[in-house]
Amino acid sequence: MNREMPSDERINWLDSGAFIALHLACILVIWAGISWVAVITLVITYAIRMFGITAGYHRYFSHRSFKTSRFFQFLLALLGTSAVQKGPLWWAAHHRHHHKHSDQEEDLHSPGQRGFWWAHVGWILCDKYKCAHMKLVKDLNKFPELKFLDRWHLIGPVSLALILLGLGSTLNHYFPHWGTSGFQLVVWGFIISTIVLYHGTFTVNSLTHMFGRKRFVTTDDSRNSFLISLVTLGEGWHNNHHRFPSSERQGFYWWEIDISHYTLRILSWLRLVWDLKTPPARVYANAKRTLFKRPSPEVREEAKAIKHHRENEQ
Ligand SMILES: [Zn+2]
Ligand SMILES: [Zn+2]
Repeated sequence: MNREMPSDERINWLDSGAFIALHLACILVIWAGISWVAVITLVITYAIRMFGITAGYHRYFSHRSFKTSRFFQFLLALLGTSAVQKGPLWWAAHHRHHHKHSDQEEDLHSPGQRGFWWAHVGWILCDKYKCAHMKLVKDLNKFPELKFLDRWHLIGPVSLALILLGLGSTLNHYFPHWGTSGFQLVVWGFIISTIVLYHGTFTVNSLTHMFGRKRFVTTDDSRNSFLISLVTLGEGWHNNHHRFPSSERQGFYWWEIDISHYTLRILSWLRLVWDLKTPPARVYANAKRTLFKRPSPEVREEAKAIKHHRENEQ
């Protein structure tokens, strides 16, 4: 069915300039060069910020799957902003909307409804989703410091770029034989790292609703993908996640690698986070039946009940 695309769903090339420019800026690597320090910086800035997105923006702010102090909540939000994916309220509101309508017409990034590119990146580049429905994040909106970070979300990225610039310049001064510089660390630790981080995160919206295994009957097309779980520190167990979104762990079994979960476990031993929610036994019971044979009528009934519950919540 052809439909006229509303103007607010067309790509706004002007407003997307910074996003596109950041992609093009990767070419600066020709002049920045490479060093071991640069590669290590890339890995660290990628991993820590991916944790900010998966553990912070996703598992904590969007799903409240564990508890923490107000101070650590602020740190998670600040870390999340450094990934250049806007503020915690914007991110969580859109993500809650995704769960409410996943793979249905209202879903903002469903590859089944609008195709791969729209789900991966198109929805971010249009005007329609620039603002989020704050009524979906009333629980977060009451914290002035979160509202502040949501409004001034560029504080994180700008601070990171300045830290990298300072670090690289200092290393260049004291250890010139390491072959690094402030410019080089900004290119590797901020520009390239952010682009890889973007597309790592976006695969959860696009590919994990297209390819992989479905362990659970859910009302959407979510899938489990081992590879995407490695890249995204555990977010690839997306069918698990859609089956029980409030679980802190997304790898539901010991063999499902979920690095964000291991990290949160360690943080819980340090009492920085607590009350990590886990999937109840009935969820695991469903998995066994759906893994080896066609879903039983009871499982299908449960899927209908989930859908009904989702339509009536909030
Ligand atoms: Zn999803
Ligand atoms: Zn989610």
